[in-house]
Amino acid sequence: MIYLDHAASTPVLPEVAAAMRPWLLDECGNPSSLHAAGRRARKAVEDARETVAGCLEGDPREIIFTSGATESNALALEGAAEALRSKGDHVITAAAEHASVLETCERLGRRGFRVTVADVDGEGRVNPDAIARAMTPRTILVSVQWVNNEVGTVQPIREIRRASKGALLHTDAAQALGKVPVSVAEVDLLTFSAHKAHGPKGSGGLWVRRGTPLAPLLSGGGQEFERRAGTENVAGIVGTAEALRRACGDLAVSSAWMESLRERLRLALKGAMVHGPARDRAPHLLNVAFGGADGEAMVLALDAAGVCVSTGSACASLSALPSHVLKAMGVPPEVSKASLRFSVSSLTTEAEVDEAGRIVARVLDRLRAGVR
Ligand code: PMP
Repeated sequence: MIYLDHAASTPVLPEVAAAMRPWLLDECGNPSSLHAAGRRARKAVEDARETVAGCLEGDPREIIFTSGATESNALALEGAAEALRSKGDHVITAAAEHASVLETCERLGRRGFRVTVADVDGEGRVNPDAIARAMTPRTILVSVQWVNNEVGTVQPIREIRRASKGALLHTDAAQALGKVPVSVAEVDLLTFSAHKAHGPKGSGGLWVRRGTPLAPLLSGGGQEFERRAGTENVAGIVGTAEALRRACGDLAVSSAWMESLRERLRLALKGAMVHGPARDRAPHLLNVAFGGADGEAMVLALDAAGVCVSTGSACASLSALPSHVLKAMGVPPEVSKASLRFSVSSLTTEAEVDEAGRIVARVLDRLRAGVR
């Protein structure tokens, strides 16, 4: 199998699995317990918190571990909106955000908040001036992703920070960590997920700048500084820290490698139309359209030939609608329906990319000729 769907999820590194293993098999302490087993679990969680804070250039007390980016986005948006309700009721986001942001904003809308969804340009990029124009004295929160998960656009976070002065700025960095340099200096809240960077699924977190008002979504045991109750997922947290430590430490080398593979793949996919920007883009993603072939049919035919890719966001792959990201970029629906997302990781090899290029060409010929 040639796996080229790393934007959907990545394999867990053996070193990450090894770090998690004792917390799955040998240790059962609850980090809140007073006995030695509990204290060992507590130390593992706090060590992990320090590691993750180091990767993000933040403070350990600013990290809240969660079940991943979907939960972190919900906590950031709902938690900040709830906590700031007396100050304002307006939230700004953008049209190419992940469904977990857009749908949480829709939910806020149903709860009486006003939501502005800023357009993106043909490259999937948010114009900071559009954010500045949308700002009102009632704006409490702006949420713009760091890297788009379908086409790889890196958003101008620093300029958006300037444009959104007076409101909190949240960024979904699920596709950014381990791919492009990320620092929390320009934002108030930052979402991360382990399984996009060779860590376990169902584990991630939210960095929250010290002093930022945030109401919890889950209450009870008081864990995670009373911002996310529930017994900590010790193995997942340890795995998250080990994955992020490696992803951030190897960033320069691995992002150059991913970029070279992406270019190799682009050249191999002769004649494909590439969606997304030429510059300021993440190195791991390539979104293309092939004339005369349906994207979903391509995914299934490639799967049968041993190549895993996707039509776009894995979270939207069960929906028959064209990608909301490509739509927001002005891509016509018939082109969108013919689009595929390839995504590499630092583990991908040149031989895999070359072989995938040959298989794509064969599958395309067959589909265009109407042969199954
Ligand atoms: N945001 C972005 C940009 C993503 O790519 C994803 C994963 N598809 C998510 C959020 C959701 O992440 P998780 O699977 O960790 O909930």
